[in-house]
Amino acid sequence: MANEPLIQVKNLKKAFGNHEVLTNINLDVNAGEVVSIIGRSGSGKSTLLRNINLLETPTGGDILFHGKSILSDEEKLSTYRAKVGMVFQSFNLFNNMTVLQNVMVPQQTVLKRDAATAKAHALDLLKQVGMDPFIAAKPDQLSGGQEQRVAIARAEAMDPEVLLFDEPTSALDPEMVDDVLNTMTALAHTGLTMIIVTHEMAFAREVSDRVVFMNNGVIAEAGTPDQIFGDPQQPETKEFLKRYL
Ligand code: ADP
Ligand code: MG
Repeated sequence: MANEPLIQVKNLKKAFGNHEVLTNINLDVNAGEVVSIIGRSGSGKSTLLRNINLLETPTGGDILFHGKSILSDEEKLSTYRAKVGMVFQSFNLFNNMTVLQNVMVPQQTVLKRDAATAKAHALDLLKQVGMDPFIAAKPDQLSGGQEQRVAIARAEAMDPEVLLFDEPTSALDPEMVDDVLNTMTALAHTGLTMIIVTHEMAFAREVSDRVVFMNNGVIAEAGTPDQIFGDPQQPETKEFLKRYL
């Protein structure tokens, strides 16, 4: 179906022991859409992303990809994993590899690309994120903002259908934040589907098609950026956004 959402999260639940961290999360993400997830610390944002990319196994509900359940089908699950990329707060680059190798090697090992193809793709993406002058550097020679731009290029190199970002700028010095946000804005304009957990409200307002506010493990409110930032309906949303005025 042409208008089917790319990802459908249906009544998703996640508990750790007796502690239910996510309760009945329902979220559809359309192809090409940019969805930002906001909410206070501990509200379940990271857990939601980690369940969407199956770093964690949901304890209830389902996730559909192109309309098909991925939790009930091993084969779909492995295809899905390859199509969902993630960018972490802590970059997670391979510190023993150069910048170029970081972006090349996963293409070779996971996607079985030959070295020449992987290199050409890596160079192209590193150029797009402004990191082509640093291809021979090791991660520990880079600033946090530079590392994060390499991590974004590495995620893109796997040709994901959707990229998840978990507070990609939270570990950065303030002067690095804009470089990474600008890189993400450029990526959003390419039509890539993105789900972004962020505390950068101005960025979320500008880049998102939809904003989801999480509170205590539920989606308390969701809407367009203008609705959520300009005319929030729930008291919890209003209270949360006050801090960012
Ligand atoms: P956020 O990203 O919004 O700050 P998290 O998703 O990290 O929130 O956490 C939501 C809740 O889930 C918190 O109460 C946290 O302590 C709990 N939690 C997250 N991961 C685990 C885990 N692996 N084991 C137990 N509790 C966890
Ligand atoms: Mg988090």
